[in-house]
Amino acid sequence: MAERTGVAAVFTGAGRPLETREFPVLPPAPGDALLALARSGVCGTDVHIVEGRLAVPAPLIPGHEFIGRIEALGTRARRDGLGAPLRVGDAAVACVALPCGKCFSCARGETASCLNFGVTYVRDPQNRPHFFGGYAEFLHAPAKTLVKLPKGVDLDAAAAFPCAGPTVIRAFDYAGGLERGELVVVQGAGPVGLFAVAWAAAAGAVVAVIGSGSSPARLRLARALGAKLALDYRAVPAEERAARITALAARLGRANGADVVFEASGSPTAFPEGLRLVRTRGRYIVPGQYSNSGPVSIEPQMITFKAVRIVGSGQYTMQDIGAYLEFLRRRRDLQKVFARCVTHRFPVRRAQEACRCAAEGRAAKVVLVPQEVGKRKS
Ligand SMILES: [Zn+2]
Ligand SMILES: [Zn+2]
Repeated sequence: MAERTGVAAVFTGAGRPLETREFPVLPPAPGDALLALARSGVCGTDVHIVEGRLAVPAPLIPGHEFIGRIEALGTRARRDGLGAPLRVGDAAVACVALPCGKCFSCARGETASCLNFGVTYVRDPQNRPHFFGGYAEFLHAPAKTLVKLPKGVDLDAAAAFPCAGPTVIRAFDYAGGLERGELVVVQGAGPVGLFAVAWAAAAGAVVAVIGSGSSPARLRLARALGAKLALDYRAVPAEERAARITALAARLGRANGADVVFEASGSPTAFPEGLRLVRTRGRYIVPGQYSNSGPVSIEPQMITFKAVRIVGSGQYTMQDIGAYLEFLRRRRDLQKVFARCVTHRFPVRRAQEACRCAAEGRAAKVVLVPQEVGKRKS
């Protein structure tokens, strides 16, 4: 029998295009599962890695949003990270972050803020079994890092926000959750912003989103996911945005601004605006500033006089992935809109193009798919 091979996109250094390489598909190690690609998301973080704005060792296979079907299980790979039994044929999301389990945060159960995070894909793909990262037709993953897709969850819906969703869920959790009737302003309408809109609207909040009109599809999706007000920051100047949000808060019988502002734009200039938009004693949740885009000037007096709570959050746990998938399972109505958020699909061989497409910012979500799906033969 001829040796079976699969393709991976390999990052070989900052600013260099991703290289397509072919590797043999090997059986899984005892604690691992071998998965075949179903959907693998292109995240803004990957784009920053490829552009050299986020330092990682090379070579490696980027991608941390891999959803695959289990092809083979190692002899000791029986359950996923949340304890569900695994079988060949099951679809699962692979979580790449490995909390150490020993540090101060982990000891307090705050594994999303582990001080010594390990990452499964930071490994040279020349080493066996080669498939360590998401931009590939196969993945070898420890069973304990998998979260099985519940029955009734559509692959495209799950592929829309497998990283943004858990990120948002963790951030709201760190900030103490939401109350019905609160006014939530989401800054940014990329994947993190769009999922924040869906999550806040589902919790009974009134949601306004500030996004870019250069991507009208994103603002349309934000409305479909529950935003009552969508403001294009290029068309509506900052003073008018503030006036509209304040007026909305007054109409809703709230205070002098939004109860919660959620920063999902990644733009440093969004931060001073968020401080202005949040009400006295409100919460400003800031999970969006993932890569360092430089300093910005603020008036710290606003923090004092408004007595606001500023909450950061950068990672998520496997439980948050479980909560994301459970949210999808319960919300079949939203699954259709989520699936529509996957606007662009590329095979692994065109991963470089996929990254460029995501960097341009017009797509809502870009995913890598198996060759057959890309050709729509299925
Ligand atoms: Zn991500
Ligand atoms: Zn730890």
